[in-house]
Amino acid sequence: MNDHELAGYLAEYAGIELLKLREVAHQERANSWQLRDQGDLISHNLIKEELLKHRPDDHVLSEEGTDDRSRVDADRVWIIDPLDGSQDFPYPESAEWAVHIALIESGEIKAGAVACPSLGRHHVTGSGVGVAARKNEEPLIVSNRWNTYQVSTIAESIGAQLTCCGSAGIKTSLVISGDADVYIHGSGLYEWDACAPVAVSRDAGLVAFQLDGTDFKFNKETPVVRGLVISRPEYSKLVREALKQ
Ligand SMILES: [Mg+2]
Repeated sequence: MNDHELAGYLAEYAGIELLKLREVAHQERANSWQLRDQGDLISHNLIKEELLKHRPDDHVLSEEGTDDRSRVDADRVWIIDPLDGSQDFPYPESAEWAVHIALIESGEIKAGAVACPSLGRHHVTGSGVGVAARKNEEPLIVSNRWNTYQVSTIAESIGAQLTCCGSAGIKTSLVISGDADVYIHGSGLYEWDACAPVAVSRDAGLVAFQLDGTDFKFNKETPVVRGLVISRPEYSKLVREALKQ
């Protein structure tokens, strides 16, 4: 498996196991807090084990792992969110959760995958699948459920509708699939929230930058990013200008 294939395999495999876990837990009427923690842990352990098997020398930065910072000087670092949108995961009616896998090599994004198991969608770099045709007549921005003041101002200034949902991976998938035109995350995020979404969206031909218009740098000592914009190319200039105001 090359790095793209491995990223895709890890995201899809973890997604399948998470779907199974949720189904069994629902039948057993499990406690949603426990299910959320179980999902984080099962997915994290599975991905770590597979990485150890397939890429034993690589480093890992995971939302659910301990970070001893040895990765900062490493050449190859996998940045993973084993379960993005874990607060929505316990609810069978919610599709708003994802698995994020990204690989940084020599400071650059090398490969990535975002699995959205409840939607049956998997986005993997290197697959040659570009962004889908737009589905809406009116431009549509998707945002997270909090910090929406700035985003609603931007939506208004470019004449777009605004919708909100959970999980950065799901919102990224909505833009790649043509359901939304722009994803704006109006607050800071961790690298594991943003890295795989940036990887798969750029690979599909979308534009991605931080809220202040600058490019991302991943595998930093403090792994945070300054917000996230993922946009169809035809809207990126308008959004950049609206953000400056
Ligand atoms: Mg998570």
